Order: sequence, then C-alpha cells, then structure tokens
Amino acid sequence: MWRASVLTIFPEMFPGPLAVSLAGKALGAGIWSLDAIDIRDHAADKHRTVDDTPAGGGPGMVMRADVLARAIDAIEDDGRPRLLMSARGTPLMQARIAELAIGAGVTIVCGRFEGVDERLIAARQIEEVSLGDFVLSGGEIAALALIDACVRLLPGVMGKEASAAEESFTQGLLEYPQYTRPAVFEGHAIPEVLTSGDHAKVAAWRRAEAERLTKERRPDLWAKYLERKT
Ligand code: SAH
Repeated sequence: MWRASVLTIFPEMFPGPLAVSLAGKALGAGIWSLDAIDIRDHAADKHRTVDDTPAGGGPGMVMRADVLARAIDAIEDDGRPRLLMSARGTPLMQARIAELAIGAGVTIVCGRFEGVDERLIAARQIEEVSLGDFVLSGGEIAALALIDACVRLLPGVMGKEASAAEESFTQGLLEYPQYTRPAVFEGHAIPEVLTSGDHAKVAAWRRAEAERLTKERRPDLWAKYLERKT
C-alpha cells in the first residue's frame, strides 16, 4: 500500500477533496492510505504552540524545529522521502511525481506562517518542493495536489492504464487537443482527420499538434524536447 503521512496544523483539511472520485475510491479500496498528523500534538506547552517570532526580527512567525522534529520522529522511519511544501523548493515535475508514485509513499510537512526553521530541513533530510512560482497561505493545498498527482498513477487507480502514457509532460510534450460529440459545436466541426478512422493519420496529427502547442506555449519544454531528439 502506498502511504502518505501529512504533518499539518490543519489535519481536518485531509483527505478533503481526495475522498472523492478516483483518489477516494482508491483510498477506500486500500490502494493507498493517508495519515494526517496534527503538529500541535507534539507541542510542549499547554497552549500547543508550534511557532515563534523570527530570529533577526521581521514580520510573521516561524514554525519551530523542535516541535516539527518530534512530530516527524513519531512516524516510523520506513525510508519514505520527506518533503516540505515550500515556495522556494524545486518545482514539481511529472518525472518526480512518477518516481514518488513507484516508491513506498511520502511524508509531507505543510508549512504555515513564514515557513519553518531552517535547521529542521537539514536535520531531518527534507526535500523542499514547490507547486509553482506563486505563494500559498499554507502547504496543505500543495500537499493535496502532490498526493493526487501520485495516487492517480498507482496501479489500478486510473481506468485505462494507457491514459497516463500519453499525457502532458510524460513524453516531454503538452497534450494534443481533445474533441468529443457533438460533431458541430457553434458552427465548429471536429478536425476531419479525427473522424477519418485512419489511425496512422490520427497519430501523426496528434503528434504535430502536441509539438505545435509545446513550441507556442512552453519554449522551455520545447528546447529540452529538441535536445533529447538529437
Ligand atoms: N515566506 C515564505 C512563504 C510562506 S507561505 C516565502 O517567501 O517563501 C506559507 C507556507 O505555504 C509555506 O511554508 C509552504 O509550506 C506553503 N507554500 C506557499 N507557497 C507554496 C508553493 N508555491 N508551493 C508549495 N508550498 C507553498
């Protein structure tokens, strides 16, 4: 079973949206498990304090290393990677998600306030990962997104195993455009090639469209794609 342990001051946010649809069914079926740990349970005072003022001054509060370390140490160490959701972390890519999905699971620390004491990150070998170049108010929504991306890759979760192989990023390209009925929508027909029944032509059209979209929208991915092809 793929295991997710999440350290948070808002355990009530889990499983949240992961209780429905594909992820929720897989959770119910025991394909993965979720354990939301309240960091406050590991505080040392009766107010259950997890944060304090930043050394050196400045606005906001910082999550304490000692409280977080106790929370992490209370989880059995089975070698799962420890991640910290962090705006300054390595941007999450599908390749890293795929690696995490074939492993035993993840332990995720959700930051709040201004973030966590730097010493914790080194002391517990934590990998900082980011959802993108924007700032959330906490790591919880980022953790839900990461878990969702992993869970849908677990065997038996997605209807068609094949659908993951063709998606955006998997082959270094964005996905080609999709169409379904009606045949004509507000005067616009489905591209003829898709209704021709010629599988080779469909595949060629999809490949060309994926390349066109990647070139237009993601010059960074396009450059890497070209590098790999040569
Ligand atoms: N002072 C921090 C932002 C703190 S936001 C900075 O400038 O980098 C509070 C928490 O939200 C962070 O500790 C982190 O856990 C989470 N968070 C914010 N933006 C995120 C992002 N883009 N990806 C992942 N987690 C994020």
